[in-house]
Amino acid sequence: YSKSFEAFVPIQNGCDKFCSFCAVPYTRGREVSRSSKEILEEVTSLIENGVKSITLLGQNVNSYGLDRPDEELSFAQLLREIGELAQRKKADFWLYFTSPHPRDMTREVIEVMAAYPVLANQVHLPLQSGDDKLLRRMNRNHNVEDYMRVVSDIRELLPEATLFTDIIVGFCGETKEQLEATAEVMLDVQYNMAYIAKYSPRIGARSARWEDDVTNEEKSERLARLTEVLKRTSLLHNEALVGKRVRVLVEREDPRCEGALNARTEGKLPVRIHEATPDIIGTFQEVEITAAAELSLSGKWVKQAAEVVAE
Ligand code: SF4
Repeated sequence: YSKSFEAFVPIQNGCDKFCSFCAVPYTRGREVSRSSKEILEEVTSLIENGVKSITLLGQNVNSYGLDRPDEELSFAQLLREIGELAQRKKADFWLYFTSPHPRDMTREVIEVMAAYPVLANQVHLPLQSGDDKLLRRMNRNHNVEDYMRVVSDIRELLPEATLFTDIIVGFCGETKEQLEATAEVMLDVQYNMAYIAKYSPRIGARSARWEDDVTNEEKSERLARLTEVLKRTSLLHNEALVGKRVRVLVEREDPRCEGALNARTEGKLPVRIHEATPDIIGTFQEVEITAAAELSLSGKWVKQAAEVVAE
């Protein structure tokens, strides 16, 4: 556990997906799910200790249970159990999970997220590429249409959710047109955040045997191109929050701005809070958003979120 108010709980290890750019299935082995009884005991103990943010971890977190379908809960059932547990205990926390695979992101998972307030309104959905041919070469086992169907379910059932993604630029054979296809999907989805990486071969991955034929300079240009798209969509989301009051979890003193604190919204958007005291670190608070930048927000501390709810 990294902090007293935040915990990361491994629920699954290994991967059966064999994306061509990734060595995880060879280095970590096949998917193995931890017992749900053990996970629920750990989550119970965390919430009894007042932990405010819990993240379920797995290389392929939402394929949880698929290795033992007759004996173990599915991922949706596990989320439901945690939602029920939170209600029984009247616990106040945000539950996240990472990283899911779009192929296993079922409508049922999204429905369960919508049903329980502790299941945080934030989804990390790796895109990797917005071009079907490249997705096939990456062996992602889904196409853009499948991906957009999941996005549409999220927008329908979780309209407040923020969407994050992972993208690789300059994968073997990627053309400028294929890069533009990714930019188009990014504009369609309107991500809040994207972790965009330049492709580099991983020892043991299938693609390490293929020609890494996009130059480093070209990869840098493609990364800059997609970063510009991300900044546009992220800014639009952030600007829409200005003037609104939002609940945040205060995380730490701001290392770059004396007297300010860093916090995150339920959707994991970073907020710099001015004129607040460090004793609120590790607690939920309410802030009024006063300014929006491309990838962050600034806010004014209002008062304890609990008091606001009580009024
Ligand atoms: Fe598995 Fe993720 Fe690696 Fe693909 S990228 S093989 S889903 S761990």
